[in-house]
Amino acid sequence: MSGFLNKRLSGLAPYVPGEQPRDMEYVKLNTNESPFPPAPGVLRAVNYGEIKRLNLYPDPTCGEIKKKLAERYNKAPENIFVSNGSDDILNFAFLAYGAGGVVFPEISYGFYKVYANFHGLEYTALPLREDFTIKSEDYSSTGKMVVLANPNAPTGIFLGLSEIEKIVASNPGSVVLIDEAYVDFGGESASSLTEKYGNLLVVQTFSKSRALAGGRLGFAVGHKALIEDLERIKYYTNPYSINRLTLAAGIASIESDSYYAENCKRIINTREKTAAALRALGFEVLPSSANFLFARSGRISGRRLYEQLKKRGVLVRHFPDEKIKDFNRITVGTEKQMDILLQKIKEIQGDAL
Ligand SMILES: *Cc1c(COP(=O)(O)O)cnc(C)c1O
Repeated sequence: MSGFLNKRLSGLAPYVPGEQPRDMEYVKLNTNESPFPPAPGVLRAVNYGEIKRLNLYPDPTCGEIKKKLAERYNKAPENIFVSNGSDDILNFAFLAYGAGGVVFPEISYGFYKVYANFHGLEYTALPLREDFTIKSEDYSSTGKMVVLANPNAPTGIFLGLSEIEKIVASNPGSVVLIDEAYVDFGGESASSLTEKYGNLLVVQTFSKSRALAGGRLGFAVGHKALIEDLERIKYYTNPYSINRLTLAAGIASIESDSYYAENCKRIINTREKTAAALRALGFEVLPSSANFLFARSGRISGRRLYEQLKKRGVLVRHFPDEKIKDFNRITVGTEKQMDILLQKIKEIQGDAL
């Protein structure tokens, strides 16, 4: 760090992303990417012609992709915001709506705390129940911005839409942001409620179910006025934030919906099989509506299991936080990847024949 860095920033803790090691080829189950490639239509759209046009700026209004997303989610284009990954939207929303304080679960997406600190916001991180479900009553009438990942991460547990609606309805004076990064793996989107509630902002990403983590594309659905706020911030900072190739990939991916729906089904199927196999090996596995499992071995610490798996070429995610340190978050990959994972766990647990 230089001595020039703004003192307010030098003391902040940055977000720690899942590791992306380059030393060898791992069975990579640590950052919830899709194990499948983007749809064939996406591969065709990001083509020589589009690359040749990289000398020209992309469309800052993102008109075409907004229109596609609006059609897909039964909205008008003015209800859609798109961004360079959904993390960008979270950043903008904390900046825009968090001045009166922010409330989110203690165990959730690590970036919420980072953005709250980055923008100098007061925040309250509320504990989950013993069973790792969100205590939805705690989020009623907070008078503050509410941020919930649904399904939650890293637990994978989905909170029903009627609970979400109660939270939104009881906080009419502040924005409720629902981060639906994993909604396509078994949740139900709150985007159906955005007409009814002007304070509801629903955020989704192309990174997980749409196999575009490397493309960086996220979107938000909400009332026209909320979307205008986010657009303002984009024009305060970086109007060309989404590059041409990613826009082309995103548009083509919306046109390939059935391909992604099919892959989600495969992942859900593999998830349930893997959860059953882990339980048979003595693990406690939380009920997941996401593309990952949050599991605790009764016999070996979370940290050690992570290390032993890494040694054997399998990467999972371990979080050091006291309340979840016995767990590992395991991305659901292909059947074959999960077979390798289970085999290695058996070896590590000393169950191998
Ligand atoms: C992956 C993830 C995101 C961020 O996704 P990007 O669109 O890749 O920035 C946001 N929220 C949660 C809960 C996530 O797991």
